[in-house]
Amino acid sequence: MKYFIGNWKMFGVPKSVNIINKINSFVKNDRNRNKYRIVLTPPYTLIETFAKYFKNKLISIGAQNCFHKDLFSSNTGAVSPYMLKQIGSKYIIIGHSDNRSEGDNDQMLRNKVRFALKHNLRVIFCIGENKKHKKNKKTFTVLKQQLSSVLEKKFKMNNLIIAYEPIWSIGTGMIPSSEDLIKNTSFIKKTLKKIFNSKKTPPVLYGGSVDSNNIEQFSKINIIDGFLIGGASKSSKKFIDIIKNYYR
Ligand code: PEP
Repeated sequence: MKYFIGNWKMFGVPKSVNIINKINSFVKNDRNRNKYRIVLTPPYTLIETFAKYFKNKLISIGAQNCFHKDLFSSNTGAVSPYMLKQIGSKYIIIGHSDNRSEGDNDQMLRNKVRFALKHNLRVIFCIGENKKHKKNKKTFTVLKQQLSSVLEKKFKMNNLIIAYEPIWSIGTGMIPSSEDLIKNTSFIKKTLKKIFNSKKTPPVLYGGSVDSNNIEQFSKINIIDGFLIGGASKSSKKFIDIIKNYYR
């Protein structure tokens, strides 16, 4: 099973439901539709209405982030995983580099993941090295640190998805070489097997400037279990073309 997950970031108003509707219509008639799962993560403001709208359809709705406390608290502007679950969110992105750069640290991320899993959300946990790490050949060290300081053996592996997003490739049009991507994805899977003491691993996605042109290159790398797509997920045509070209 492959995943195509769209991260809308700060984008979308109620009428943007049309974008996801077009994607849903495509999936309904796609002969490959049993091979993949689609998740869209609009901003908090749209989750409840979109989740209701797509409840019995082929697309799941998720959130892009949450606060690091459970249930309710006195933190202004904060939204907990419990609150997101209650309004129909099925998935949640945690640890996106945008949020790490805004102050999310490992301890906060561990709590976010823990509470999200507690409320049966499927967690898309993001990791990735920056340009300097890559240049200094610190990628493995960073990936291992990001995984092992947040994930615990007792976490429900079945509700976890890892998104490998090199920070230097997010929104830049730059992508890793196939060789590096295979090497890094294999390393992530090896590390996950150690953490969970298991032969199986959660799915590992790639994210960073995925588009309908470069998806063909990624489609040849079978150890990648899917994609986290930012910019191109805000256009139904671009998102649909990614899926079409992946299975071409
Ligand atoms: C992202 O923000 O998660 C992302 C992968 O963005 P983009 O596809 O635009 O690089």
